[in-house]
Amino acid sequence: MHTWQNWSGLETAHPTEVITPATPDEVAVAVRRAAAAGDRVKMVGTGHSFTSISAPESVMLRPDGLSGITAVDRAAMTVTALAGTPLYVLNSELARMGLSLHNMGDIAEQTLAGATSTGTHGTGGVKASLSAQLAGLRLVTGDGSTVVASRDENPDVFAAARIGLGALGVITHVTFEVEPLGVLEAHEQPMGWDEALARYDEFVSQNHHCDMYWFPHTDRMQVKTNNRLDVPIDEIDPVGRFRGWLDDDFLSNSVFGLVNRLGNRAPGLIPRINDLSGRLLSERRYSDIPHRVFTSPRRVVFKEMEYAVAREVGLDVLREARQLIERKGWRIGFPVEIRMTPADDITLGTSTGRDSIYLAFHVHEHAEHLDYFGGVEEILKAAGGRPHWGKVHTRQAADLAEVYPRFEEFLALRDRLDPGRVFANDYLRRVLGD
Ligand SMILES: Cc1cc2nc3c(=O)[nH]c(=O)nc-3n(C[C@H](O)[C@H](O)[C@H](O)COP(=O)(O)OP(=O)(O)OC[C@H]3O[C@@H](n4cnc5c(N)ncnc54)[C@H](O)[C@@H]3O)c2cc1C
Repeated sequence: MHTWQNWSGLETAHPTEVITPATPDEVAVAVRRAAAAGDRVKMVGTGHSFTSISAPESVMLRPDGLSGITAVDRAAMTVTALAGTPLYVLNSELARMGLSLHNMGDIAEQTLAGATSTGTHGTGGVKASLSAQLAGLRLVTGDGSTVVASRDENPDVFAAARIGLGALGVITHVTFEVEPLGVLEAHEQPMGWDEALARYDEFVSQNHHCDMYWFPHTDRMQVKTNNRLDVPIDEIDPVGRFRGWLDDDFLSNSVFGLVNRLGNRAPGLIPRINDLSGRLLSERRYSDIPHRVFTSPRRVVFKEMEYAVAREVGLDVLREARQLIERKGWRIGFPVEIRMTPADDITLGTSTGRDSIYLAFHVHEHAEHLDYFGGVEEILKAAGGRPHWGKVHTRQAADLAEVYPRFEEFLALRDRLDPGRVFANDYLRRVLGD
């Protein structure tokens, strides 16, 4: 029996068959064969989604055989890669060529198609999600045929398939817009809750990227701003090896893991632990090539819910969530992350049509999450929030249709590209309907 499990361990599935296609043609053959047999097909990524969005029901396609860059267009400043390429591979290949993505999230383990299919995003910039940085893609649809999509070719498919949830087809190639490799300076500074919130608009407008973390049960925040520096690459001033290991590996992973296990055993200690963690953070500045500033290793396994709300209401929603946490007496050992993304034009993009603030709530893998996530989700839902497609949420097609003005357009495209629902699974039935 085959077993698939996601990174957080929250979701498990048992596909009947596992195939590792080595070419786009082999993907098409697998889809046609499954469609003819009445089976379902699911191309998985690295399972970094916290939801069951990539849970295979019968045939599972592994991404490993579809990896690597296939084209570089320096005139158009685009790079095309096979869909299963891990993001860290793309990042280092781009750097080798003197190129970079504009923006990305906190880690680089995901596959390119897996990350874009759920709207994986960073913060700030002119484009915040990987999906919004796509210039084109190629996908195998429900009857095994191939569709190429960009702003000029099949624009309706391009609008939707950049965040296609795996519902429209198996992506074989993605083309990203890229920019010249530059230097990004990070400035991390501890700050009080009141000051950080009062200065939020300033941080967003005066920096290229702004990321904030709030330590529950305390007034402590950590504010991280990143800015492009106009200096040559050989003038980077990265975090020293020891300080990098101490801050990003030992404190952020090893000590944080131990502290969380302690918090799980004695939740009453969590407020004091959070206060101490907040106190230990110090100000630091460093510069490096972009992907080394944006991403870092995450070895403490956790569960996460993240929602995008309209930027105007984001900080009020955060204040409401804080009040709820204190009122309910939950003990939350993980910081809440606050990011901002400019509006995009992707059909089911969490930022579609509006500048957004993303609020992300985490708990350790062994901590109970249902009450916390469920309680905060009510606030996020009442604020017109849109859940990250790859993170824990309980929303269903009927109420998601209310927060996505182009929901019906996506469903109509799904009917056209996958009328037999070859790509369906329980998650898609819940969020899109049958
Ligand atoms: C530690 C950690 C940190 C994270 N940080 C961030 C962050 O900073 N920002 C953020 O937004 N998210 C973040 N995420 C969420 C993560 O980026 C997304 O869940 C992403 O989708 C995971 O990519 P994956 O390759 O693991 O895909 P999977 O989770 O395996 O799959 C996701 C979806 O993509 C589909 N898919 C995969 N390959 C294909 C293909 N070839 N064609 C069509 N569909 C395909 C799957 O079927 C599924 O529907 C984080 C997750 C973790 C665990």
